Amino acid sequence: MELKYSTKNLWEVFNHDEVFSFGDSYKDFISKAKTEREVVHYLHKEAEAKGFKDLFQNEMGNKVFAINDNKNILLIREGSESVENGLNFIFAHIDSPRIDIKQNPIYEGADIVLFKTHYYGGIKKYQWVTMPLALHGVIILKDSTKLELNIGEEENDPVFVISDLLPHLARKQMEQNAREVIQGEALDPIIGSMPDSEFEKDKFKTKILKILNEKYGIVEEDFISAELTLVPAEKARDVGFDRSAIASYGHDDRICAFTAAKALFDAENPKKTIAVMLFDKEEIGSDGITGAQSDFLDYAIEKYMSMKGIKNVSAREVLHKSYGISADVNAALDPLYRDAFEEQNSAIFGHGVVVTKFTGSGGKYSASDASAELVFKIRKLFNGNNVPFQVGELGKVDIGGGGTVAKFMAERGISVIDIGPALLSMHAPFEIVSKVDLYSTYIGYKVFLEKFE
Ligand code: MN
Ligand code: MN
Repeated sequence: MELKYSTKNLWEVFNHDEVFSFGDSYKDFISKAKTEREVVHYLHKEAEAKGFKDLFQNEMGNKVFAINDNKNILLIREGSESVENGLNFIFAHIDSPRIDIKQNPIYEGADIVLFKTHYYGGIKKYQWVTMPLALHGVIILKDSTKLELNIGEEENDPVFVISDLLPHLARKQMEQNAREVIQGEALDPIIGSMPDSEFEKDKFKTKILKILNEKYGIVEEDFISAELTLVPAEKARDVGFDRSAIASYGHDDRICAFTAAKALFDAENPKKTIAVMLFDKEEIGSDGITGAQSDFLDYAIEKYMSMKGIKNVSAREVLHKSYGISADVNAALDPLYRDAFEEQNSAIFGHGVVVTKFTGSGGKYSASDASAELVFKIRKLFNGNNVPFQVGELGKVDIGGGGTVAKFMAERGISVIDIGPALLSMHAPFEIVSKVDLYSTYIGYKVFLEKFE
């Protein structure tokens, strides 16, 4: 009998070839899908290729998808049991911290043209300066053409860069609190510096407007109806001599979106009806039409049941019978910042997918706290199906905290628990994950979808 509890480093457990090849497929996704729209587009194409039908086009089959406002996607696969018995859900979010372009953004100063911006989500602002940024998003022109922009990802594309004060002149800046070192209004990238000699006034700004008009047909007013965002221009890269980790923008939380969607596509003979629901706006409170607090999930499940002709049970009842994983990232113990962690209850890099009983902060405020019974079901499921996992709590008790979409799913009566991989440098432009943690997340989600009951 094993008296003591311990976890293993999974490089000593997993087949390395499987881990590396899974890492490669993830790197392709995470390097391409850098906004919620791009994730929805990527998975929409993949779902269609796999024969999924469009629920909102009144199509039906044993595999369907539903898309909301280009920023949510719900994937459903029928199981051998009726949906009346509830679903096994995985919920994740596909928005990540970033820098959004304001609605009237272009200005010039000191012969340099810049975009005014408004950052999105919890960032350490000083991390986003002096690095290559790419512009992603949509802009809807006067004639209603919807342009999708993606500038800065190709090797020959220009990039956008936010400047920072040289150390020689930064004595005052360096004395500031880190929160104030870079001001929100100083996160404006350089977008040009060439004059248009035909003009006297605003000749640098005019040059950029002319280029935008010649190249894309854009006029300045079009920025009013745009959603443009700056994201790190880097592609995902292997980390270390041993290539054991992946650094990328947007692991939080697209790593869970990817592993969940892949688990749903790959699941063999699921018993329950299984679903993956991807939300937007988690990083700013889950509000709005595409956030986890919106009515979309309830509406889509109601629609799914009516398309299946189920009348004796309500969608509400089905949700109350359902179980869900709130698939989001946790923090791995960082050897450079051990002080922020309570080591015995922190996730260890490489020790597998993390089961987080509760989130929240302070005295567990705003926590969704999974019951001991639910944790036991997961423990039994994972132990019985060779899914190595660990438990984790986000940092020391009084040091901070965070939440996920779990509490909004719990409000619907879904029994929910947080499960996902642990990252280093969460919310930074370049976050780090261990390849074995990535892989164990995938197999954990797949086992949950196939077998949880
Ligand atoms: Mn997250
Ligand atoms: Mn986050």
